[in-house]
Amino acid sequence: MDAARTFADAVAVRDGRIVAVGADDAVRRRIGTSTRVVDLRGRTVAPGFGDAHIHAVASGLDRLRCDLSVARGLERYLAIIASYAAAQPEEPWIRGSGWSMADFPGGMPDREDMDRVLPDRPAYLESRDGHTAWVNTKALDLAGVTATTPDPTDGRIERDAEGRATGTLQEAARGLVSRLFPPESPDSLVAALRLAQAELHALGITNWQDAHVRADEEEVAYTALVGRGELSARVVGALGWDDARGGEQLEELVERRARTTLSRYAATSVKFFLDGVLENFTGALLEPYLDAAGRPTTERGRSLVDPEALKEHIARLDALGFQAHIHAIGDRAVREALDAVEAARRVNGPSDTRSHIAHVQLVHPDDLGRFRALSVVANVQAEWAALEDQLEHLTIPFLGSERAARIYPFRSLRRAGARLAMGSDWSVSTPDPFIQMEVAVNRVSAEHRGEKPVFLPDERLDLIDALEAFTVGSAWVNHLETEVGSIEVGKAADLVALDRDLFDRGAGEIGETRVVATFIDGAAVHERPELDG
Ligand SMILES: [Zn+2]
Repeated sequence: MDAARTFADAVAVRDGRIVAVGADDAVRRRIGTSTRVVDLRGRTVAPGFGDAHIHAVASGLDRLRCDLSVARGLERYLAIIASYAAAQPEEPWIRGSGWSMADFPGGMPDREDMDRVLPDRPAYLESRDGHTAWVNTKALDLAGVTATTPDPTDGRIERDAEGRATGTLQEAARGLVSRLFPPESPDSLVAALRLAQAELHALGITNWQDAHVRADEEEVAYTALVGRGELSARVVGALGWDDARGGEQLEELVERRARTTLSRYAATSVKFFLDGVLENFTGALLEPYLDAAGRPTTERGRSLVDPEALKEHIARLDALGFQAHIHAIGDRAVREALDAVEAARRVNGPSDTRSHIAHVQLVHPDDLGRFRALSVVANVQAEWAALEDQLEHLTIPFLGSERAARIYPFRSLRRAGARLAMGSDWSVSTPDPFIQMEVAVNRVSAEHRGEKPVFLPDERLDLIDALEAFTVGSAWVNHLETEVGSIEVGKAADLVALDRDLFDRGAGEIGETRVVATFIDGAAVHERPELDG
């Protein structure tokens, strides 16, 4: 992944750094008496992957809590909840996630089912997509939710005919219960990050950007793991922007960056949410959504940050050396993000903060070229660029054919000179970079190979471009490109050995690729016996 995209036969590593790359003979001369020699017999070695948008600590917590994502169906869920609760007798709350809406009538589970296995301890379990919570009667009682409790703004308490809560809480209504949770203990935060890091290393990921760092959760985990000398990944943290507090929080962000930026962890980015998602019409669009009959409505989605205030915030952050990591789904949100970076350039002149826009689901054609002009990175979640129920039934009909033809315009962005970085948004999607690259290349989900049509074939990326986005692209976003992202002499030996030649299409689907070893600074952080076999 050097600038010339050279393919080499061999690489030599010494004291954690790459000292030679090239033909077998040239590299073989570096073998000394104590050198470990690994013959991969034609299998690919890639630079360690970088995930440019991930929630590693939160995903680790999901894994540690009651994890329903491993099963399907009410009875299986109840069995998992019961055995988890039995194994955690001291936990005041049973928390977890991962149930599928398809397993319940109308997508809505019932508190009485959960009461059967958990009558006297409160429980709260989020759906796979994280927008809905299933709670038991004890949790509703503790929260004081009764038939007279009104729905909160931006949320809904599902109710029976008498108005009593049924145990399904939508969106902001989840907060009625979740605000009661005791703070997460430092021990469990550390355990969560440790688990997530091991899982990511096993997938070849050696660096990432945590897309939402909260002072009482992610920050505690990263600083503690660095303190114990256990953070092997290189991580950039994006500190969450609290729009209600506006400019008054700048001083605190500077203080947090200074206090928590340590070896391998840098709190140098700030995360903005500009809009919601298209499925529930909260994504911010330039032109209105359509109704179910295809007629224009008046709804264009709300800008979660006032566009003029955003310009000011981003200019000030940029002047302080902070990167902006901007969540923008709709074409208006993307434009507002680009406008804000443009305003910052006008005020501050050139800077090297490398703003990036995550998700970029819909981009107006006039804005494609602005990514390059403003050096804004398109941070894409490739797994979403395939036809599945949500996109087919909840998004495309409400956009109409013209806009639907430019959803996730990865190749158009690339053609317009945008730098691409890839990230998973784990735990929303799988953290497996091979599954994501497969969708980037095929625009068909790994789950529906050979079944669903290719989604917007012109937007397919070449594998080498997807690989670049996951290595050099993410390294660039994290200001790590002089250190990692390519296999070049002088760089750190962050390397991934695969079980095949990634570019041999006869070797199987891209998403079936497995990592046999992951090295950071030349030391194995994940290794399977097949490496030498
Ligand atoms: Zn995210």
